[in-house]
Amino acid sequence: MTTATTTYLCIECPLGCRLEVDDAEGEIVEVRGFSCKRGAEYARQEHVDPRRTVTTTVAVSGSLWPRLPVKTAHPVPKSRVRDVCAWMRGARVAAPVALGQIVARDVLGLGVDMVATRDMPKLD
Ligand code: SF4
Repeated sequence: MTTATTTYLCIECPLGCRLEVDDAEGEIVEVRGFSCKRGAEYARQEHVDPRRTVTTTVAVSGSLWPRLPVKTAHPVPKSRVRDVCAWMRGARVAAPVALGQIVARDVLGLGVDMVATRDMPKLD
């Protein structure tokens, strides 16, 4: 059986542990380098299905500011991050918007909503 080792940088906290995943024909056989359970889980997830939370902005109408900061409610596949950003560049929401409010549902059919990360009052 052939074993390959892949290294990852854990991005779950500022410590930045260097993780190693041994893979034998598609099966993870060992994970090393983590300092906590979160890091071990990150290494496994990163190896089989890397995902990222997307933080970006969306155009907003009727407010003092032109753009609203938003993020995905859950991580999306890493390969789709640019698509999500591009899709959000073409979107527009209307003020008022509350912190945590869903501003777009099921973005690109990924099963993930986009939520506001701040209040955006309506301009009087
Ligand atoms: S393994 Fe744990 S301690 Fe190390 S960077 Fe990841 S989250 Fe932080």
